[in-house]
Amino acid sequence: MIQLEDYTFGIDGIKPYILKNKKIAETLETQRKLLQLWKVQRPIIHNNMTFSTKDLEIYQIDRLRNIVDTAFSTNPFYNQLYSKVGYSRGDIITLDDYKALPIITKDDLLDNENWLGGNLSPTLENAYRYTTSGSSGKVFTVYRDAVMNNMMWLNQLRFYEQILQRPLKQKDWIYEIYLAAPTFSSIADHYPFFTVSNECPPEYVLAHLKLLKPSILSGFPSYLLNLASLIKDPAEFDFIEAIVTNSEASSQQERDRISRAFGGALVCDEYSSIELSFISMQCPHGNYHLVEDNVRVDIINENQLGQGEMIATNLHNTFLPFIRYNHGDKLALKQHGLECRCGNKFRMLKQFEGRADQILISQKNGEISSFMIMSLYDRFLLAHDSNLLEFQIVQKEVNLIELNLVPKANSKGINWSCIDLFTSHLKELFGNDENLSIKINEMAEILNPSYKRRLIINELLH
Ligand SMILES: [Zn+2]
Repeated sequence: MIQLEDYTFGIDGIKPYILKNKKIAETLETQRKLLQLWKVQRPIIHNNMTFSTKDLEIYQIDRLRNIVDTAFSTNPFYNQLYSKVGYSRGDIITLDDYKALPIITKDDLLDNENWLGGNLSPTLENAYRYTTSGSSGKVFTVYRDAVMNNMMWLNQLRFYEQILQRPLKQKDWIYEIYLAAPTFSSIADHYPFFTVSNECPPEYVLAHLKLLKPSILSGFPSYLLNLASLIKDPAEFDFIEAIVTNSEASSQQERDRISRAFGGALVCDEYSSIELSFISMQCPHGNYHLVEDNVRVDIINENQLGQGEMIATNLHNTFLPFIRYNHGDKLALKQHGLECRCGNKFRMLKQFEGRADQILISQKNGEISSFMIMSLYDRFLLAHDSNLLEFQIVQKEVNLIELNLVPKANSKGINWSCIDLFTSHLKELFGNDENLSIKINEMAEILNPSYKRRLIINELLH
């Protein structure tokens, strides 16, 4: 197996930041199995994206019937839940049958230990373990088996081929700057992954990238923007063909900035979660497609703009399934039947609303989506002449928004006309509510309590 230390090319500073898989030990045998699976499944899963609406529905119903029946028979939590509504095995014949099942939330699962009981193999100790925080701040642990791990990889490799717009080659390096290493460091010496921690100084990463020459770079948009700001000559990085952003919300303008810094590499955003794995991915034409052979997504409680709560099921997780799961995120889907030039027929998002807590709340106009706020800060705060290094929009109270601003070093100071335009448009989103005050704080740096960059914080929701 590939030893990452052999690929530091004398950049010793990077060594302490190399991340390795600490979950289930990877073996050449498990990697070889995945490689075999990829070779068989590759044409099939690429073809899935060209399914007609009817064929996709047939595919999803088959998967849903399998998941629901398995959960009903093997998982005490689902058995009780579905028994109460009179479910019997084999009842899922149409999507409406599926949509009649009760919706569950993270808190339902956190409060119900039964959810984790039922599997004889693998035991939870031998499954891949992931943690996230619940809405109440409690730690929520999710387990995946080898089937889910392999599905995650198949989706990931297919996504890479979509954005590279060519088949992966055995020697294509993938460079990740992240919190943890992937479950495999390569697929039996194909497509090796070099993973460094988000804490690695960007200078080391830039020097190392030039020597390793990966085809794909992947990371948090805030870290990639930081790298981008240090690049003097974009042509030095033209070996990077595609860049993936994930984990934090980023605007199209920020992704365009990353693209320019890396010599015009295609930058695509990916939206996934530990509960559902891949949910949506941006294609080379900039559209967010749902990954509809991985998740069934429905939108409920839509507002006039079509935005509503996402209810989803991972179609392959029979081990610890999430069925009709309210993820807490908001989505709006594009009109049915619209086709994208990339050829992917999976439904597209009208806009990616981001995490449900990245919204502002107006007494007059209700919830203001993160998409609306991101469009505004794209235009005014990220504008080249705003002279801002960083900013953060914090709703402290119903009628109080604080705008934290950090000016760029060596600039002439903040360009207040940009800030004025931003605040006047923000007031418009609040229906020009006279009770609303926007307080501006100029500061030397913004301290983030979490590892993720948060440009929009709503303290009313915490
Ligand atoms: Zn597309």
